[in-house]
Amino acid sequence: MLERISDKFSDIFRQLSGKATISEKNIQDAVEEIKVALLEADVNLRVVRRFVNRTIEEAKGEAVLKAVNPGQQFVKIVNDKIVQLLGDEHQDLELKGPDALSSILMMGLQGSGKTTTSAKLGLRLKKEGRRVLLVAADLVRPAAVDQLKVLGKQVDLEVFSLEKEKDPVKLVGEAKKYAIKSSFNTMIVDTSGRLHLDEEMMKQIVDIKRVLDPQEQLFVADSMTGQEAVTIAKSFDEQVGISGVVLTKFDSDTRGGAALSLKSVTGKPIKYVGVGEKPEDLDPFYPERIASRILG
Ligand code: GDP
Repeated sequence: MLERISDKFSDIFRQLSGKATISEKNIQDAVEEIKVALLEADVNLRVVRRFVNRTIEEAKGEAVLKAVNPGQQFVKIVNDKIVQLLGDEHQDLELKGPDALSSILMMGLQGSGKTTTSAKLGLRLKKEGRRVLLVAADLVRPAAVDQLKVLGKQVDLEVFSLEKEKDPVKLVGEAKKYAIKSSFNTMIVDTSGRLHLDEEMMKQIVDIKRVLDPQEQLFVADSMTGQEAVTIAKSFDEQVGISGVVLTKFDSDTRGGAALSLKSVTGKPIKYVGVGEKPEDLDPFYPERIASRILG
């Protein structure tokens, strides 16, 4: 994960770090190579352009050219810009206090990891002391309800489902009543994803959102899909609204493009990353840590 881009960056920095002085031309060349590395990592073109312009602007300042160790100074600027791209600070979920019911709407395309992530997040919040109800509202993918039930057992969380109900909007309404009656304070609602974006799917999620009135609307994105994940996130944000992103399959061989573009393009923070298939494999997203992984 992220190895390729990290290797490229190490090469670029190695060339600069040996030099006692660096010129504007050296900076220009290094930035050009960084640009290529970012594009190869499938980072959004507009994001790359903005990144490159800002880096050049800052790196051409006196502070770098006249620094005792200009190479190091340059690396610091690149690091800061990458952290900025990734969203600066870690952003937590914004849920209500323990005495009120909070709900989290999970959305995304089929196969992005919504069902798995619902259980992972449930486990995490349970460990934080919340009383979590998982809601099986993905009524499109045939095995999704059973999958959530199996995962629910694994993480020891109750799963709300209604065998005969075909309408996810009604199901969510019932789940909410049940959650209040049974003193849960957190509902995680797994919704259906389609293979592609379609109007019917969006309309349904908007209806679910209206009934649920969620505190968090998390878009689950498969990091392996790179740029496509960014485009889809944007469209979910425009049509339904998202409060944050969970980037799944970050343990796989991702080029890093989605992680590096999502915040800039959507303006919405990445809140968690999925780093494996097991229920424990969900980490809070820390821009600083990812930046240092990229910069080696
Ligand atoms: P859904 O259709 O969006 O509900 O997707 P699923 O939750 O069924 O996930 C699809 C596949 O991706 C499953 O095989 C999951 O085990 C796998 N998966 C989900 N998240 C991760 C992750 O963070 N890392 C890895 N390696 N696999 C994941």
